[in-house]
Amino acid sequence: MTPTSAAGMPGGSSVAVVGGGISGLAAAYRLRRLLGPEARITLIEGSPRLGGAVRTVELAGTPYDIGAEAFLVRRPEAAALASELGLGDQVVHPTPVGPMVRAGGRTVALPRRTVMGVPADPGEVAAVLSQRGLARLAAEPGTPLRWEPGADVAVGQLVRRHCGDEVVERLVDPLLGGVYAGRADALGLRATLPGLAGALDRGFGSVRAAAAEVLPPAAPGPVFGALRDGLGRLVDALVDAAALVLRLGAPVRALSRRPLVSGHASRDSNRQSQGGWRLELGSAAAPEHLDVDAVLLAVPAPALRRLLDGIAPAASTAAGTVGVASSVVVGLALPADAAETLPAASGVLIGSAEPLTAKAFTFSSRKWAHARGDGVLLVRGSLGRHGEVSALQRDDAELVAAVRDDLAALTGVTAEPIDAVVARWGGGLPQYAPGHLDTVATIESAVAAQPGLAVAGATLHGVGIPACVATADAAAERIAAHLHRAR
Ligand SMILES: Cc1cc2nc3c(=O)[nH]c(=O)nc-3n(C[C@H](O)[C@H](O)[C@H](O)COP(=O)(O)OP(=O)(O)OC[C@H]3O[C@@H](n4cnc5c(N)ncnc54)[C@H](O)[C@@H]3O)c2cc1C
Repeated sequence: MTPTSAAGMPGGSSVAVVGGGISGLAAAYRLRRLLGPEARITLIEGSPRLGGAVRTVELAGTPYDIGAEAFLVRRPEAAALASELGLGDQVVHPTPVGPMVRAGGRTVALPRRTVMGVPADPGEVAAVLSQRGLARLAAEPGTPLRWEPGADVAVGQLVRRHCGDEVVERLVDPLLGGVYAGRADALGLRATLPGLAGALDRGFGSVRAAAAEVLPPAAPGPVFGALRDGLGRLVDALVDAAALVLRLGAPVRALSRRPLVSGHASRDSNRQSQGGWRLELGSAAAPEHLDVDAVLLAVPAPALRRLLDGIAPAASTAAGTVGVASSVVVGLALPADAAETLPAASGVLIGSAEPLTAKAFTFSSRKWAHARGDGVLLVRGSLGRHGEVSALQRDDAELVAAVRDDLAALTGVTAEPIDAVVARWGGGLPQYAPGHLDTVATIESAVAAQPGLAVAGATLHGVGIPACVATADAAAERIAAHLHRAR
């Protein structure tokens, strides 16, 4: 088979970006800015759709984010990218209503002053814990701290031991579950709560004292932003600005160093010795080849493991240790009068020991002024924590029914939906286990040893959109620096 050659294009370099989620798209856009109009940037996405975990659908006629719905604005990258793309006037912030938490069969306001559920002050969480749980937490500073500076443990192991099971099940699990679709017992402290790990390293003698040290002073201004017409606008704007060659529905199956072809030899012996890359993509029955000067991988950990196998074995093995969690989001459009029953909150996080199927609800129309559809009330239910597959193996009608049952149990809202949408996020969120920072260091150093190869994405330094954009920028800069050196 004759490979499609994008390599050695006169007047420009060729780069393949693999993965069309927010990381791959942001990286492709940054590459365009760094390499100029002549570079040939091919973005290859395995599924028929761009955006990955960012997806805006229509729910009862309103644009509705059924994957990621918001981005932190206290980190600059996502908001800055939106502004750079001319979407600054699309950025909106949540209304002042706060979230609630379901714990011990009661639904109460979620305590605000905790570090991902770890409280500094027992009084702050008194409404969430039982008397026994509260007494256990109050006694914590008196129990000897077991902590080895520099070490990593599961969040649950540390917090259960020092603060009691209820703090994990009623506070930490709901909050960590919201970000990672994971459980405190499997997520590593150093990657998910780095501030707390750092304070313990510095010698704070109890978990509560470390939490007190880490809690930021209450700051004015919004924490999150969203886009009025949906985060899909960011995807569209990135595609427009990046001027890409797009290959959709074309999973990359293999990556290898490109054999040197005399016609492609460059003036520079350094570049010749590097040879560039060959990708095999498309269906297994009729694969296609693409030759490029550089490759940027922005795919989830399982795909990263496969594509790095044979190229950077240490990175491939390390990527293979990163688990992924699957989840489902159900968006419901309810008749507007359901608002009379719905609590005045932005949503409800659900403790991991509660007898409910969902792990969280967002009352979208309460949380976001822009999500107040015409005559409807938009509500989103999320299901699935790492390792929980049975809840997700139901058909759409069963998932909608399960979410409605939970909504009724939590709020009394029983109205028949006017519209519903179900999105399955198979393997959508990486799990940062204890030792994750070492795993990432192994991936990044093994990839850095390969000229013209870079990685980005949620597997690395944070699952939130701003963190993904930061890895995309860094990876694009690495590729651009390599191409400039090789010229
Ligand atoms: C349900 C849900 C809700 C979330 N909510 C928020 C939120 O509100 N705020 C926030 O900041 N973050 C949120 N996140 C996290 C955030 O959305 C993701 O971490 C981020 O979007 C990941 O982007 P990515 O590009 O790294 O990976 P992905 O979005 O997973 O994209 C990777 C892409 O690579 C493609 N791919 C895989 N293998 C191959 C291959 N071999 N060849 C070609 N293509 C391939 C996939 O099809 C996919 O499109 C949420 C995540 C989920 C799942």
